[in-house]
Amino acid sequence: MALVNCVECDREVSDKATACVGCGAPVGSPLPSPPPLRAGQVYAAPHAQPQPVARTRVAYILLGLFLGGLGIHNFYAGYHGRGIAQLLITLLLGWLIIGVVITGLWALIEVITVDTDATGVRMV
Ligand SMILES: [Zn+2]
Repeated sequence: MALVNCVECDREVSDKATACVGCGAPVGSPLPSPPPLRAGQVYAAPHAQPQPVARTRVAYILLGLFLGGLGIHNFYAGYHGRGIAQLLITLLLGWLIIGVVITGLWALIEVITVDTDATGVRMV
């Protein structure tokens, strides 16, 4: 057992005591601890990270269907490398039908199979 000074009145009180005998102020933890969290509840961080932009799968699909040959849907979802590849294929080979066929099929497959953006966030 040790004696500590009360934060309110500076009187010596036991560190085992829950309140100061002189003034009744709580002893040991001058700052009250936060209440326990309920399930699913989170503390708001003082410097919270900005939420990632919520991308919708509908927009991804529409961009893929109409602008998929230019890789716009991949730029939208953050897959910049794929988008650049599709853009270059279409620009360089687009005057041949094969370039449009390649990127068109590629975009179609992505529209069907990809449901998360480049950061792994599910597009809903
Ligand atoms: Zn006190």
